[in-house]
Amino acid sequence: TKMYPTVGESLTLTAEKYPDRDAIVYPQKNQEWSYREFNERVNQLAHALCDLGIEKGDRVSTFLFNTSEMILTCYSAAKIGAVFNPINFRLAPSDLTYILNDAESSVLLYEDAVGDVVDSAQDDLESIQTFVNVDGDDDRATDFYSLFEKQPKTEPEIDVEQDDRYIIMYSSGTTGRPKGIVHSHRDMIEHNMCMLSTQHLSKTDVGLSCGPLYHSAELHCMLLPRVHVGASTVLQHAFDPEETLGLLEEHDVSVMFGAPTMWIQMVQQSPEEYDLSSFRLGVYGGASMAPATIDAVNDEIGCDLVEYYGMTEFGPAVTVLPPDGQDTKAGAAGISLPNHEVKIVELDEDGIAQPPNQEASVGETGEIVIRGPAAMDEYWNMPEKSESVFDGEWYYSGDLGYCDADGYIWKKDRADDMFISGGENIYPRDTEDVLLEHDSVVECAVVGKPDDEWGKVVLAYVVADDVTEEELDEFLKEHDDLADYKRPREHRFVEELPKTASGKIQKFELRDRLNG
Ligand code: ATP
Repeated sequence: TKMYPTVGESLTLTAEKYPDRDAIVYPQKNQEWSYREFNERVNQLAHALCDLGIEKGDRVSTFLFNTSEMILTCYSAAKIGAVFNPINFRLAPSDLTYILNDAESSVLLYEDAVGDVVDSAQDDLESIQTFVNVDGDDDRATDFYSLFEKQPKTEPEIDVEQDDRYIIMYSSGTTGRPKGIVHSHRDMIEHNMCMLSTQHLSKTDVGLSCGPLYHSAELHCMLLPRVHVGASTVLQHAFDPEETLGLLEEHDVSVMFGAPTMWIQMVQQSPEEYDLSSFRLGVYGGASMAPATIDAVNDEIGCDLVEYYGMTEFGPAVTVLPPDGQDTKAGAAGISLPNHEVKIVELDEDGIAQPPNQEASVGETGEIVIRGPAAMDEYWNMPEKSESVFDGEWYYSGDLGYCDADGYIWKKDRADDMFISGGENIYPRDTEDVLLEHDSVVECAVVGKPDDEWGKVVLAYVVADDVTEEELDEFLKEHDDLADYKRPREHRFVEELPKTASGKIQKFELRDRLNG
């Protein structure tokens, strides 16, 4: 028996139930599609992909900003059992080439805005047979909309199973070479159910997708779940704080995801000047958010906040911090999602995580390990790596953290970011959290600076207004719970911190600056 729909069927079901509700609104191209129209276009594109020779299991890649065409491709691929491969639109030609060749993708859909990158990569692409440009034909590519001509609007008759591959998403490379993370349809449906319950989504919700859709946070925490309940989605080509606030007002948006850095930029734009009376829920994740930013969002944007913690390997969310936890548990990653187990395992003296049954005690720092229904199937083409991150069903996240007496998980640092100074383990987050309590500090990142005497010493990169190094040092000294050895020897003021496209601070880059 079939317990769940596939990702493609989740759209078919909603189109049957709510044919006339708004599905996709894409102001850039003046498109507004009801669920019936959206589903019909998806079916047409699915038939077109079959005509291009795409078979079940083949990879279909997009190199697109947030566009209606990207969403059509996601569902069309799902309906014919092809594997959707959305690629980060900010990548350089060499990264694009690496991913397309590694995925052995057959089709690449792209847009004019990234045409130059495709130009540079083109000669090195080994498997792409068809290029499609969503902005019209060019020398190399077919026009996206010409694919629809004469295609039937009927459901494609291809048998797709829950355990078939639905997507390959490449990790953003915070820690090295991108890995192709593979999820089945079943994983995604399981994940989406957790999103519905923790965001209390219903058909009256309107979501704005302004965070990058090639990243699992926007696609899988926000957009796909909305399709299950018939809520609508407004697409913004790319985040821009002022335009985003305007779209929230204009479309009576009720829910949106943003990485912390996006919320910081929005609160700097006088959000109180916009009518955001419909906006009920801000979602953040991917990195933790400073208390000052949380307060500013609550006060100036006037919405509740929900935080997710997780990783692409889990779809991505594994814990949630609901609105009522933002005060009492500010800074925590949250509690595990329904049907998920998240726990902390002990580290030995060398910092190596122990087997899953050796749980750390309450408050003790160890590695965060996870078991749950949305765990990835594998890393594409990396069988050894795939095996090495699991111990049985338990996934070793590479994140350090602890669990408090109420079962809340507190994420500290990536294992790679921890360092030793004069024999003491330094968890940068301890220092960063205190620094962020200072009113002038917008963002910061603590790293170990190589030092002949101590091995490493604590150094803080700080984005701040109107504060001196001495004042920060005094502020830290006043905090009794921050041990002396965790206080930075040096604060370096910078305009901004290096980040991945999904808003994660790239500590390896900061470390390289110190080494080089
Ligand atoms: P790579 O695997 O190449 O390093 P990546 O780090 O960008 O890529 P993601 O899956 O996007 O991969 O990020 C997952 C990581 O993001 C988690 O392991 C965790 O360190 C961090 N993270 C996610 N959510 C939160 C959160 N709410 N608070 C703090 N950190 C978070």
